[in-house]
Amino acid sequence: MNSPMERVVIIGAGLAALSAAERLRKMEFRGEIAVVGEETHPPYNRTPLSKGLLTGHTSARDLSFRSYTHLDVDWRFGHQALGLDLARRTIHLSSGPDLAFDGLIIATGVRARHLPEAPMDSPHVSTLRTIDDARAIDAMMTKARRIAVVGGGFLGCEIASTARERGIAVTVVDRSATLLHRALGAPIGAVIGDVHRSHGVRLHLGVGVSGWTETPRGARLTLDDQETINADLVVIGVGTDPNTEWLHGSGLDIEDGVRCDATGHVLDTDGIRVEGVVAAGDVARWPNHRFDTIPRRVEHWINAVEMGQAAANSLLAGAAASQFTPIPRFWSHQHGMRIQASGIPALGTGMKILEGSVRDKRFVAGFTRDGDEGSILVGLITIDMPRAMMRWRTSVGHSTIAHESHLMA
Ligand SMILES: Cc1cc2nc3c(=O)[nH]c(=O)nc-3n(C[C@H](O)[C@H](O)[C@H](O)COP(=O)(O)OP(=O)(O)OC[C@H]3O[C@@H](n4cnc5c(N)ncnc54)[C@H](O)[C@@H]3O)c2cc1C
Repeated sequence: MNSPMERVVIIGAGLAALSAAERLRKMEFRGEIAVVGEETHPPYNRTPLSKGLLTGHTSARDLSFRSYTHLDVDWRFGHQALGLDLARRTIHLSSGPDLAFDGLIIATGVRARHLPEAPMDSPHVSTLRTIDDARAIDAMMTKARRIAVVGGGFLGCEIASTARERGIAVTVVDRSATLLHRALGAPIGAVIGDVHRSHGVRLHLGVGVSGWTETPRGARLTLDDQETINADLVVIGVGTDPNTEWLHGSGLDIEDGVRCDATGHVLDTDGIRVEGVVAAGDVARWPNHRFDTIPRRVEHWINAVEMGQAAANSLLAGAAASQFTPIPRFWSHQHGMRIQASGIPALGTGMKILEGSVRDKRFVAGFTRDGDEGSILVGLITIDMPRAMMRWRTSVGHSTIAHESHLMA
């Protein structure tokens, strides 16, 4: 391929970075590729950190993406990017000389959000984002009899499930009225809550944590309703913040992630596309024109893979880059139950059970929105129906007439 670029630099050595590097080589980019990552580990799979790694079904060795060794790439682990100079086209690093680039891929992901009032320096309180966090939680779980999880999103629910599998008493606290409220909505969140209760998880929903006291064995949480919870270990899973501090002063729009156009090219604070700079993965906020024009971040494993590839394509294509319009996909495992999501269910104004039944906790739920061509299927959530998910997934983005005929087929 003909490309004027001699050196592509990728910042963040995670999944999106690896996927982008692989794609560049697949597209026969023959220039230099340097990947800078602040963690000392080669790229690894984060998804088992809250699941198999804590239950012992997955070993730390299984997390590694071994393909990284086969690429002709200058991997720089344990180095942090501290600044971007767009005029000079250089990256300022935590050590060593500045790194010049012709093309830049930003893939710095997100980090776990802390609660300002929580004693984060306590050995009994942790968030979970990295393999080092998971190892520390695993060690603490070995001794813990009671765990409190603050946050009833996917991460919190998965930690609650793994703790129960290890025979540890678990309490989950969340301000929302149901688990997974934001991602799945109240009706499905209530179903998930029933599954957790039936596995012995105590739920305190609709309340926040108003007080933290350190105790000799762990921590005591006081809730808004004055209830107290004693725990040997508290895991906080209250969301994430994008890793964009190093881009302050660069001129890029970094409000809630790195703002991109529909091709993954980054935008400056005037909304003007910056040539030769793209972003991918959890940190990127872009409009998926399959659904609408609102820029969003998507924190899903499959998105990091697909957007890494798309960012590499866009970088090499330049002005001819095409739009990245995937159907987002996500999965989670809790108490042996497989939850899958496709599309953007939160965009739906209506919900219908398309197959299975809520009572049996095995179903396909379709989320619809009214458009010019009638009702459009914008998202799907399935519980323990993976084959049905594969069949229905192709209907996302189409009118409900199409998917009702699909149901009869
Ligand atoms: C515990 C856990 C469980 C998950 N389970 C699921 C699941 O079941 N299903 C699913 O779809 N998704 C899941 N995910 C989400 C999925 O893992 C992420 O979407 C994916 O890892 C995103 O990849 P990324 O490359 O964008 O970011 P990351 O994997 O976060 O990689 C970014 C890297 O950039 C580095 N970095 C940041 N700032 C700098 C800097 N200034 N200089 C250099 N390096 C920097 C970071 O340290 C990090 O190593 C899970 C995530 C976690 C944490």
